[in-house]
Amino acid sequence: MKALEVKDLHKTYPQWRGESTKAVKGISFSVNEGEIVGFLGPNGAGKTTTIKCLCGLVEPTKGNISIFGIDAVNETRKAVSNTSAVLEGNRNIYWRLTTRENLEFFAGLQGRSGKEVGPEIERLLERFDLKEKEDTAARKLSRGMQQKLALSCALIRGTDFLLLDEPTLGLDVKTSKEMRRFVKRLTTEEGKTILLSSHDMNVVEDVCERVIIMNEGKILANDSVENLKDIFKINLYDFILEGEQELQKLKEKYDVNEIKYENGNTKLRVSLKDSESFYSLVNHLQEKDLRLKEVKNLDTQMEEIFMNVIERGR
Ligand code: ATP
Repeated sequence: MKALEVKDLHKTYPQWRGESTKAVKGISFSVNEGEIVGFLGPNGAGKTTTIKCLCGLVEPTKGNISIFGIDAVNETRKAVSNTSAVLEGNRNIYWRLTTRENLEFFAGLQGRSGKEVGPEIERLLERFDLKEKEDTAARKLSRGMQQKLALSCALIRGTDFLLLDEPTLGLDVKTSKEMRRFVKRLTTEEGKTILLSSHDMNVVEDVCERVIIMNEGKILANDSVENLKDIFKINLYDFILEGEQELQKLKEKYDVNEIKYENGNTKLRVSLKDSESFYSLVNHLQEKDLRLKEVKNLDTQMEEIFMNVIERGR
């Protein structure tokens, strides 16, 4: 069964004065049970609006949403009872309540008693390193801890479908990595279905099997990370040459991205379409008597794919 099916979703925000904003302009996509899908897009692309429509916080202007087969537009309450959302990292927790009280409160919302969820709360506190802070008010936690608590509160509800909006926003490198690892495990070990939005390509590349790229309210790409890498394969190389070399002229013939001087060497970053242009460049460098120390083939980065998709969609 599909965990989520979105058909021709539109959302237009009425403005108080002046023009209305068409935040989502007729998008359709689905998410399979147990899948983890990334939602990428620049500021204002419509990601948050879409997620808010999915969890019943914003009423769509038009279109259909079905969550585990239940109509989420007309039977919102029933549909979202099996959905938890973590919006903008840490907004969904109660700042005056302590860590433990927050967890008990969210379990209660789902009709689960403190007794029933006791061991689960303990597990989450341990897992997220929050045990020491169980009696601290949420407002006094660091941002990273608040984010971990927000995710724990979503998890304690025990729903199968999770909507995570920017789960790693504002986290330091270590905490962001921990969070990614944890999110990944939620699908592999617990079979959760996750839709995750982020600005950070690395997060999406690291965690998601499939990516949906949105811009200006529309979906521009919806494919696996691997396929997108194939479609937008860019053969990017770093040629490291001995000494500081003047290579500006190469720009006339090759697609040079960057020339940089590092540790007495010259780094030439260039994209080469095929093996012919690769050998032509190597020959050229040899003819000029330049000593090649190293050639590195750089992996296509999610960031390049993203830029390509956005450019192409304009
Ligand atoms: P970001 O990554 O910056 O959060 P986003 O992709 O999540 O962006 P949205 O927050 O969905 O994008 O915004 C899409 C558009 O809708 C923007 O032009 C925004 O200004 C507008 N918008 C969002 N919320 C409202 C609202 N409550 N009222 C009016 N316009 C809104």
